[in-house]
Amino acid sequence: MNIPSNAAATPADCLRIVLVGTQHPGNIGAAARAMKTMGLSRLVLVAPEKVPDGDTRAMAAGADDLVDAAPVLPTLAEAVADCHWVLGATARSRRVQLEELHPRAAAQRAVAAATNAPVALVFGRERTGLTNEELQLCHAAVHIPSDPAFSSLNLAAAVQVLSYELRCALLGGAVADSGTRTPPPGEGVAAHAELEGFFGQLAETLEQIDFHKGRAPESAMRKLRRLYLRANLDSAEVRLLRGVLADAQRMARLAGEATGNGKIG
Ligand code: SAH
Repeated sequence: MNIPSNAAATPADCLRIVLVGTQHPGNIGAAARAMKTMGLSRLVLVAPEKVPDGDTRAMAAGADDLVDAAPVLPTLAEAVADCHWVLGATARSRRVQLEELHPRAAAQRAVAAATNAPVALVFGRERTGLTNEELQLCHAAVHIPSDPAFSSLNLAAAVQVLSYELRCALLGGAVADSGTRTPPPGEGVAAHAELEGFFGQLAETLEQIDFHKGRAPESAMRKLRRLYLRANLDSAEVRLLRGVLADAQRMARLAGEATGNGKIG
């Protein structure tokens, strides 16, 4: 989908809220209001069961402009085709084989990724959420840590909570938050590509030092990703870790040469 974009787009302009198959038009309005209070404006509707109506307007309470501007598309694939990062909001934890992020970490990554490319936050239907096929189109999942015995928030309430986290991430250092470390001056939270570069080198290194010993590498990598994402690394820290890995790789190469093990290198 071609969302109008221009070179001067702010990160908030790059953050897209996508509502899939919404059943109650009132929720579309309430979601728009939730977004607007948090400075977000890009709403996209995918195959809503009913088109926006009087209930939508009543619940939007002044955020009708977002609803009026919202493109309506037939499929999620079309709604996120131009997005570089797609995050699926799920009411049930660990429902899919996707990396699952806490709202705060998810918002920080979304904002970091939205500095130069569209990013989508996708919400499912009130009754059934997102289908597995729709979740497959997401790069990661975000779950609001609600009570597992009653975990499903109202759609617009979920949009509110996650829009609030996006706003805090957008405000960055201006927010005093004991739960989030502010990066040192001059260093921003590492971008998606920097982290992926690090994870790639980490996977390579684990292979070279024979860490897995025949076990499938996916499980360890998933846990390590989770661990490092929790640390909210900045760019300098990613460079430091990559330096450590580079040395480990050099030692592994030397050891391989010494033992004539052709596998290493
Ligand atoms: N019965 C559905 C709940 C849908 S609620 C189910 O079990 O999947 C509608 C949407 O709100 C969900 O698809 C999800 O996008 C969002 N949502 C509700 N509760 C959430 C939570 N705890 N964390 C993240 N998103 C949530």
